[in-house]
Amino acid sequence: MAGISNGDLADLLATRAESETGFRQKAFKRAARAAFLWPEEASDLLAGARSLEELHSVGPFIGEQLRGWIEHPPARSAARDSLRRLEDFLTVAEARKILARDPTWSERLRGDLHMHTSWSDGSGAVADMAEAADLRGYEYIAITDHSKGLKIAGGIDESELLEQGMEIAAANARLRTADSKLTVLRSIEMNLNPRGEGDMDAAELAKLDLVLGSFHSALRLKEDQTERYLAALRNPDVHVLGHPRGRVYNYRVGLAADWPRVFAEAAKLNKAVEIDCYPDRQDLNVELLKLVAKSGACVSLGTDAHHAWQLEFIELGVAAALKAKILPDRIINFLPLPDLQTWIAELRADR
Ligand SMILES: [Zn+2]
Ligand SMILES: [Zn+2]
Repeated sequence: MAGISNGDLADLLATRAESETGFRQKAFKRAARAAFLWPEEASDLLAGARSLEELHSVGPFIGEQLRGWIEHPPARSAARDSLRRLEDFLTVAEARKILARDPTWSERLRGDLHMHTSWSDGSGAVADMAEAADLRGYEYIAITDHSKGLKIAGGIDESELLEQGMEIAAANARLRTADSKLTVLRSIEMNLNPRGEGDMDAAELAKLDLVLGSFHSALRLKEDQTERYLAALRNPDVHVLGHPRGRVYNYRVGLAADWPRVFAEAAKLNKAVEIDCYPDRQDLNVELLKLVAKSGACVSLGTDAHHAWQLEFIELGVAAALKAKILPDRIINFLPLPDLQTWIAELRADR
């Protein structure tokens, strides 16, 4: 019964969803997404005579389908859909196995540097994210709501960013009185146009603790996009390049570039490229992270959480970094807060 992984099952569920309609289609889609987050391999559960219904989004109907696939694995199609190449996406069950090889990696993690709140398209308040991060024992989190150019995601302008800063200061004051070691950092996920330019006033960005820059447009181009990445990295306001490829599981393959050249530029400028740990993104992925490891560029880990519970996605990114053999001293989330602040101050001094 060995051999079929949660990633395979996610793929089978997603494929099946395409030939279903209505409630059944929804159930297959929901289970396909949940499969990435199941804490154990479904095949292990079955081998241990446990019920597949222990798994999130699995009822009797989906459970029977899964059992059939696990007991009689379908032949893998040779021409696997490039939108969801399994080797490219880790599941939580796989991530936990990878992390178990070196427990020091999970211990080194001090924070999460990408998350959204109800200021843009997230569901929680700053305080909700802080509470969830405090429970995880973090030393810092960065609140990175969308900037004003991304209207579809409720991007915020400079005055809202200032207002949010007051909410963050209040949250930090409450954390101090509660003896928490957590600090909430003021940040933003600034929308970059395809020329690598941001949409926010540089003077306001300079007041933030950290600035992520991400592309959210023209993400389906087939042509080489190296120049846009070089421009984004050279943008003096940007410290971290968010979800670089722009890929989304079963939706979009992401952009192409001369990645060794892009990562060499990041290394030269001492900037960070991100592992967006959101299960459908996992961007950068392990394959490209191996090139990052060679380049010596810094790496930033962020869940891109839109709900407080999604902070748990971080495991997918830590495992990807470990699998790709990124040196721990290149991961900015492993830095104590004062060192993280020094790294940002140095980038600002170099501009
Ligand atoms: Zn984004
Ligand atoms: Zn985001």
